[in-house]
Amino acid sequence: MYDHQKELEEIINRLEKNSFKGKNILVTGGAGFIGSWICEVLLEMNANSVVSLDNLSSGRWENISHLEKNPNFKFIKHDISIPIYFGKIIPNKICYPSIDERFDIVMHLASRASPFEFEKFPISILKSNTLGTMNALGCSKDHNAKFFYASTSETYGNPPADKVPTPESYFGNVNTIGPRSCYDESKRAGEAFAKAYELQHNIDVRFVRIFNTYGPRIRAGEELGRALPNFIEQCLNDDPITVFGDGSQTRCFTYVVDEVEGILKDTLIPEARGIPINLGHNKVTTILELAELTKRLTNSNSEIIYQKMPKDDPIRRQPILTRAKKILKWEPTTDLETGLKKTIEWYKMQNV
Ligand code: NAD
Ligand code: UDP
Repeated sequence: MYDHQKELEEIINRLEKNSFKGKNILVTGGAGFIGSWICEVLLEMNANSVVSLDNLSSGRWENISHLEKNPNFKFIKHDISIPIYFGKIIPNKICYPSIDERFDIVMHLASRASPFEFEKFPISILKSNTLGTMNALGCSKDHNAKFFYASTSETYGNPPADKVPTPESYFGNVNTIGPRSCYDESKRAGEAFAKAYELQHNIDVRFVRIFNTYGPRIRAGEELGRALPNFIEQCLNDDPITVFGDGSQTRCFTYVVDEVEGILKDTLIPEARGIPINLGHNKVTTILELAELTKRLTNSNSEIIYQKMPKDDPIRRQPILTRAKKILKWEPTTDLETGLKKTIEWYKMQNV
């Protein structure tokens, strides 16, 4: 049986005790898959205040509703592409004077992140990572708070064979007008915003490039969702498993416990300041292997069917982890089979 508390304790055990004790932290995207895990860990580590700001576009209230009774937790429904001010009143601006703590850390994770959303909500995605990043950085500046930005492996676009596995020094092969451009180009702009605030205002900025992350709370049940939750749902319902192309494209799947540990280490460790760091698993899996593994672990009767490959879909994706290992002393420890089993157990618990 999936035990969520045990998973949170696992993350906490891997971090410095008391490292967030007494801190005030704003988490944008704090009702989403990764953001809600971060809010929970911060509260368990005795943060003084955790403010989750989210417009509930791709996030779910259910991810954080259990935190409502914690006096150190607050939720604000707001779109971060619109400026927001805390602890003061400014005429004609959206203000929360009642949230009067000084933030020590602003963590900006607010952005839809699933490829199927790129077609439906490109403007909102662009805004979340450009205007939204600027507004979150403005808040950091206002509070003299450290800033963390959730960037992505997509900043590399579709790297050529000799750039896979990919180091942080690779500048990317990205189509500015392609179907994924709202996401990858805006994440690149988000990194540039963070760097500009560091240069001009001396903000302590941190950014990681997150590779495909999965685990309990990953979204599913959407038309054209991400491969991993799609395959789980399809297998549990004995529906056909939709592999795009011939399934030979590769990804490296990182379990959320490992990813959240890496994100929080990046936020804490001084040497991570101002440097992009890849955070992902380095074990390569083809999408067909993922489909077959999910089928085996769910004892499903689903058949695998092959559908058209989406345009600009990256062919290979794999991080070089030298920086993460050296600077963060981080490397993922959960293999895909173990993490996938836990995710499947969690899915089953949602449907009972
Ligand atoms: P998610 O969709 O579950 O979470 C994103 C959250 O942001 C949601 O709760 C959504 O409601 C909220 N949001 C979106 N736009 C907003 C806005 N304008 N204002 C306020 N809230 C807004 O996705 P996730 O997988 O948890 O991703 C979290 C972050 O990590 C994102 O920035 C994403 O780009 C990044 N990331 C995730 C992955 C991954 O594999 N999951 C990979 C690379 C990067
Ligand atoms: N994919 C698939 N079937 C699906 C959904 C996705 O074969 O039902 C493929 C997709 O084309 C991509 C890979 O699986 O090559 C990973 O896609 P995902 O949406 O999970 O994330 P991405 O890595 O593209 O951001």
